[in-house]
Amino acid sequence: MTEVPTIELTTGAHIPQLGFGVYQIDPDETAGAVKTALDIGYRHIDTAEMYQNEAGVGQGIRDAGVDRADVFVTSKLNNGFHEPDAARKAFDETLSKLGFDYVDLFLIHWPLPTLYGGDFMSTWKTLEEFRRDGRARSIGVSNFQTHHLERLANETDTVPAVNQIEVHPYFTNEEVRAYCAEHDIAVEAWSPIAQGKVLDDPVVTKIAEAAGKSPAQVVLRWHVQRGDIVFPKSVTPSRIQENYDLFDFELSEHDVDELTSLDKGEEGRTGPNPDTFDYIPD
Ligand code: NAD
Repeated sequence: MTEVPTIELTTGAHIPQLGFGVYQIDPDETAGAVKTALDIGYRHIDTAEMYQNEAGVGQGIRDAGVDRADVFVTSKLNNGFHEPDAARKAFDETLSKLGFDYVDLFLIHWPLPTLYGGDFMSTWKTLEEFRRDGRARSIGVSNFQTHHLERLANETDTVPAVNQIEVHPYFTNEEVRAYCAEHDIAVEAWSPIAQGKVLDDPVVTKIAEAAGKSPAQVVLRWHVQRGDIVFPKSVTPSRIQENYDLFDFELSEHDVDELTSLDKGEEGRTGPNPDTFDYIPD
């Protein structure tokens, strides 16, 4: 079976560099998709309260008959629950929906700097409680810009183990990646294939043809060689398999640089800008 490399977080936990993302997977389809991924060999699942499919993630892991301890499970605090008491209640619900007594990693999903009086520090201190009581083995953030990370560093005690941010060849997000590298924060690249938008790019298809691999494999391999953690999403078993087969080939340094040069800066984002995003789901 393919050996997926792991990355050691500052907490000492080892996170598989390749996982399976379940954003936009229908709650009724989630257990089946997660079981398919685990049957193929994935041992890392990325969900969130916002995706409304945590129960399916827990069910899929149990259905696959894999030991809980052998799967790295991440979930995230939803935007409406940043105040400490709400965060505590939401985290209890995350564990109850998953049907587990701990998560491997729990993240603040968005910094929401224009809400809650800009106070994501008290939210972070609440996640520190979950880490201390062992119910979150590691804690981290998502969509934090460098100035958000600097505020955390100045005003709180724990450095996030990860920052989960948008990264793909059209939005390489180098400034945030560089800050994270300097401060020992592992980077998780969300929408790693830009939800499919980079797959028809002539540079991607040229490199894929030369490598005898699919465009998705080439882009995911680019992330792996840059050292970021990825969890592509699909509900199609053949694609779930394809996205897993990244470890029997290597891109040249020239290929990696060519893919990196596709960056379009801010225009390349597929998702919202974290400095202004203020969405609270119903
Ligand atoms: P993605 O880049 O993984 O693209 C997924 C889409 O690409 C699929 O819906 C499918 O249409 C297509 N696809 C997948 N594999 C393919 C293949 N081999 N060939 C052709 N097309 C293929 O996008 P994503 O789901 O947005 O991101 C992945 C994961 O990142 C999510 O599931 C979620 O876990 C996480 N995420 C986090 C945030 C955040 O704010 N923290 C935001 C978005 C996504």
